[in-house]
Amino acid sequence: MADYEMVIGLEVHCELSTKSKIFCGCSTKFGGAPNTHVCEICSGMPGTLPTLNKSVVEFAVKAGTALNCEITRNNKFDRKNYFYPDLPKAYQVSQLYFPICRNGRVEIKTSKGTKYIGIHEIHMEEDAGKLVHDPYTDKTMVDYNRCGVPLIEIVSEPDFRSAEEVTAYLEKLRDTLQYLGVSDCKMQEGSMRADVNLSVRPVGTTEFGTRTEMKNIASLKAIARAIEYEFERQVDTVEAGGRIIQETRRWDDTKEMTYSMRSKENAQDYKYFPEPDLMPIVISEEYLNKVREEMPELAEAKKERYISQLGLPEYDADIITGSTTLVKIFEKTADICGNPKEASNWILTDLLKIINDSGKPLDEVSFRTESLGEIIKLVSDGKINRKTGKQVLAKAVEEDIIPEEYVKANGLAQVSDAGAIEPVIKEVLGSNEKAVNEYLGGAEKNFQFLIGQSMRALKGKADPQSVRTVLQKLLDEMR
Ligand code: ADP
Ligand code: MG
Ligand code: ZN
Repeated sequence: MADYEMVIGLEVHCELSTKSKIFCGCSTKFGGAPNTHVCEICSGMPGTLPTLNKSVVEFAVKAGTALNCEITRNNKFDRKNYFYPDLPKAYQVSQLYFPICRNGRVEIKTSKGTKYIGIHEIHMEEDAGKLVHDPYTDKTMVDYNRCGVPLIEIVSEPDFRSAEEVTAYLEKLRDTLQYLGVSDCKMQEGSMRADVNLSVRPVGTTEFGTRTEMKNIASLKAIARAIEYEFERQVDTVEAGGRIIQETRRWDDTKEMTYSMRSKENAQDYKYFPEPDLMPIVISEEYLNKVREEMPELAEAKKERYISQLGLPEYDADIITGSTTLVKIFEKTADICGNPKEASNWILTDLLKIINDSGKPLDEVSFRTESLGEIIKLVSDGKINRKTGKQVLAKAVEEDIIPEEYVKANGLAQVSDAGAIEPVIKEVLGSNEKAVNEYLGGAEKNFQFLIGQSMRALKGKADPQSVRTVLQKLLDEMR
């Protein structure tokens, strides 16, 4: 049996985080009551005209720049005609002939090393509505809230050779677009959706096989599973002397298999033609420069800077820059406590553990970004000990608190002056006479036990160093 390799190209749709839709003023907010974010324009009433939302162009240019694309200085919209109930106009405004970005590339890292994935193009288009099937009434309902939400579609070259590369690329796209503030890329809410085109060929050959397309798979893990399944299905088919048919297949994640949905439609089935209601978009040099100047620092550059200028270990820098939520928390924390390394320590050892235990996904944790920095400061100023600091942090993740006020209100401040500690420790020595006598008789290890008892009597609020000093002093006086 010949060895086969998979060849994959991705079409990724991302909803842009503009406030309003692409051709009208309706809100793009996810999750509103059905058909409440709709007007005569996005519901396709006859006689209405679209007005292009400028931010959509800006967001697409930012995405294209970050993905190393050429920006098409004269680009325009086309109509893609098809009839489906979620598309009230019976056409989607998209870009076929002159997409806004072309010829980009993205660097990805996998266990096999670094590789570039080509970006064929990025085009702007409008999203369709959503069909909701109600199993109780056996009726299908339509929600037009999503109709006209702006999308960019990022079309890759067929450069992927494994599921691992696909995952790395999607994570990279997600990080980049989130950094840019262009899309929140939440696969679970459908704001990032990937179509996977996959074919197989014997290793060593250069011609591409016939591909199938798997649409709208809902998570990175499901995408990886779908790829492995479809690869084997195609290899088995070819090995058995069969032919692969170019078609759209649906991945069923519970049954873990793909099945045929429809044969592939071609561009000509959509009867594309230039959109007559919108002017071509002309992008000037000044405009491009202005957008480029506004580009934020991206993950790679940030990571390098964290390592070289802030002195973070590569591992820490990698984890923090892997999430825009962590970046926000880290930068604020380092700023407040003035110690980037300490900030990253707390994030990696304490904060992530607390969040993990809470069971909430990282980007759903609402956390006053100043809190961690303030807690670290309370600890380094000796106002609370590290253990209390962790406790306060756990509370801060749970609900919005001001750490300093919380410490005061709950009497958590550290007791470090000897005057306050001494009477308590004296009492501890009084009620542990046996241990004290053994210690005085040479049992050194009892010291640690007495520290423990003292800390407990001080309800964990004492500064361990002060307890040590006072205990030693009292014991020495008893010799
Ligand atoms: P269409 O517009 O009909 O969907 P495209 O030629 O634009 O087709 O390709 C869509 C996606 O499919 C691209 O990401 C491309 O890289 C990928 N692709 C094209 N041919 C193959 C193939 N033989 N095997 C795997 N992927 C492919
Ligand atoms: Mg396609
Ligand atoms: Zn509208």
